[in-house]
Amino acid sequence: MTIRNDLVVSMHYTLRDDAGEVLDTSDGGEPLAYLHGHNNIVPGLEEALTGKDVGDKLDVKVSPEQGYGENHAELVQEVPRAAFEGVDEIQPGMRFQAETAAGPRPVIVTTVTDETVTVDGNHPLAGENLHFSVEVVETRDPLPEELEHGHVHGPGGHHH
Ligand code: ZN
Repeated sequence: MTIRNDLVVSMHYTLRDDAGEVLDTSDGGEPLAYLHGHNNIVPGLEEALTGKDVGDKLDVKVSPEQGYGENHAELVQEVPRAAFEGVDEIQPGMRFQAETAAGPRPVIVTTVTDETVTVDGNHPLAGENLHFSVEVVETRDPLPEELEHGHVHGPGGHHH
């Protein structure tokens, strides 16, 4: 079936950055399954897949605006170390949920000093061009429950 909104799509994919480094891949695992037209994947890739069919292979370059967004300097914040009371040891790379004006948001610790902790609320791939190589392996109609939830259940999708 040709890919359109409300169709379940299974695909193998490899994601590379501008330098050609592999950031993520389904190679060697099960294909990723998603519900088309429900923002399960980045907009640029979803748009490129519309109208494609099983067996189609495509290479898609997705700009930050159509990917994980631009890097926003205001999402990088230096906060007093006291804000992390109860956390034994704070190290760069640790992830937290932070309360922001836009609601809870995942942040990653980038720098730690004696007095302050710097956290970054940008998506790790914000500001990056995304180079996807994709092969469509299966399409099917969604179950009513999947359509209701807005995502795919079972292999390659959500397990709950
Ligand atoms: Zn669900």
